[in-house]
Amino acid sequence: MSHAATSHPVFRFAPSPTGLIHVGNARTALLNALLARRGGGTFILRLDDTDAARSRAEFADAIAMDLDWLGIPPDRTERQSDRLGLYAAAAEKLKAMGRLYPAYESEEELELKRGLQRARGLPPVYDRAALALTDEDRARLEAEGRRPHWRFRLDHGVVSWEDGVRGPQQVDTSSLSDPVLVRADGTFLYTLPSVLDDIDFGVTDVVRGEDHVTNTAVQIEIFEAFGAPAPRFAHHNLFTLPSGEGLSKRLGHLSLRALREAGNEPLAVAAAAVLVGTSEALGPVASLADLTGRVDLSAISRAPARFDPQEIVTLTARTLHLLPYEAVAHRLENTGVGGGEPFWLAVRGNLACLADAFDWWRVVDGDQVWPAEAQDRPLMEAAADHLPPEPWDAGTYGAWIAAVKTASGRSGKALFRPLRLALTGRDTGPELAALLPLLGRRTVLARLKAEA
Ligand code: GLU
Repeated sequence: MSHAATSHPVFRFAPSPTGLIHVGNARTALLNALLARRGGGTFILRLDDTDAARSRAEFADAIAMDLDWLGIPPDRTERQSDRLGLYAAAAEKLKAMGRLYPAYESEEELELKRGLQRARGLPPVYDRAALALTDEDRARLEAEGRRPHWRFRLDHGVVSWEDGVRGPQQVDTSSLSDPVLVRADGTFLYTLPSVLDDIDFGVTDVVRGEDHVTNTAVQIEIFEAFGAPAPRFAHHNLFTLPSGEGLSKRLGHLSLRALREAGNEPLAVAAAAVLVGTSEALGPVASLADLTGRVDLSAISRAPARFDPQEIVTLTARTLHLLPYEAVAHRLENTGVGGGEPFWLAVRGNLACLADAFDWWRVVDGDQVWPAEAQDRPLMEAAADHLPPEPWDAGTYGAWIAAVKTASGRSGKALFRPLRLALTGRDTGPELAALLPLLGRRTVLARLKAEA
């Protein structure tokens, strides 16, 4: 059973707030958010926080902040911890249907069973011993102080679905252990709540990591148990570190917060998160709309993809080089960078990160001077003497340089390097032609005439 093509798709990103989300989580979030956007649908942030001991409000806040920073704030936020009563009621229904049964084995007992199965060359699948318990057995176990955990009785059939990334999938659930849905302390694992939420919120599409393929088979059986259509599923490949190690939220690998604090551009992170490990070329994008047009689930590789954080650094620079002024105006103003669009267009090609724009603004705007070396003083005097009166136009710089060339007899590096040093204090940077009008005649003269 699955949703027919729907006019209002509903996607969700469902992290557990147990750590800072990383670039692999960003891949999941972006695929869902951008596909929702492309389909004119809804993007839900669902916080899978049924594990009260490990879930923290500060991580939930950090997730919301990270999604904002990426440019994909959710249309709606839901918390599983607000819905525990609903899950408990649904668990009772499953019990009544005979699909949820109590089991009493301790973790040690289960480990022992698995060890014996492996020794006999059998797969370590739960043997359903608990299904054979009589009422008396259970009463005795409970009298011993044991509390049951609750397992979902799988159908032991073949579950199939058309995966948006992996194509046709089939899982024989007789090869799986009946999954625990409720722990002995009464708390829920995410499996059942996720299905109930997907039903209640009308989720039509679940895009998540391929570590969930087996869960999908289980969850499709749970959808069926509730007589609800399953959403479409797509499982994307996972990122690893360059070493091949998987990304871990717990270990703080490649967290969005750290990437942000290192000065990377959100669009660069987004482009890398969506495009690495696909057959699409990795390159900068000028907007999320641009990236949305490039999302293609069928282009995602089946193999895990190594994620080199250096790619984000390179992409950050390449992204800045093509960002239009409107995309950064607000952030420039917030950090006290002036000069408007002309300043931005002059410097963007020289930035490694946006903070560099602030340094260039100080160069343009400040009263600083950088006195020329003695052998360059005559050049500075010639340059000052020939500086045209304002107003300046597009032809001013060329005319000025031509006059200075003739007057000083210098050309090439011997001409441009001392001028650049005197005007900016640096020997590389934006085109002088673009900087000149930003500096203005008064500042240019002051810098040319500065004496040591
Ligand atoms: N909380 C689960 C996770 O972060 C959600 C998986 C899902 O998208 O259903 O892996």
